[in-house]
Amino acid sequence: MYAQGHPPKDYTFLLSHCLLNQKVRAERAYTSGVTQRLLGILSHYPVWLEQLPCPEFSFVGERGRKPKDEWENLRGFREHCSDLANEIGERIRELAERNAPFLLLSIARSPSCSSGQVYRGKRLVGGKGILVEELEKRVKLNFLEFDFGRVSWSLQKIEKCLKVLGEL
Ligand code: SF4
Repeated sequence: MYAQGHPPKDYTFLLSHCLLNQKVRAERAYTSGVTQRLLGILSHYPVWLEQLPCPEFSFVGERGRKPKDEWENLRGFREHCSDLANEIGERIRELAERNAPFLLLSIARSPSCSSGQVYRGKRLVGGKGILVEELEKRVKLNFLEFDFGRVSWSLQKIEKCLKVLGEL
């Protein structure tokens, strides 16, 4: 375990935007305590935090829930994600060039930010969100997925990961 304030490496957590600002979530969804609990855990470890932009809110603002196929059919949205991925990818390449490890906290089932499953119509299928797909065309990523439907489980997973990193 490393001492607080003395990271063994320069570790960066790239946070999906809504983990720190739920205002951007579809249908104004809000899960109480998420940001406070997440920051409470992260603050015990010497990691850098970077908040990624929200691709959906920055494209359409407030919105209803849509499956991935509807976002794919929305004109200009993939290009918007591609532009964001260029900027984010640039930053990630800088981290990679100085061998600074990083992890992206993705969002379970998000049509834009998932790293595991997405909805196609009403079916939940394997696949990544559109922003994540665009990022992976540019850089190699490691993910840890946060599930707003399983907050305690997600937080435990993050804390376990931080403890493991501290032992490296
Ligand atoms: S999962 Fe991604 S697109 Fe959805 S609200 Fe969070 S940051 Fe925005």
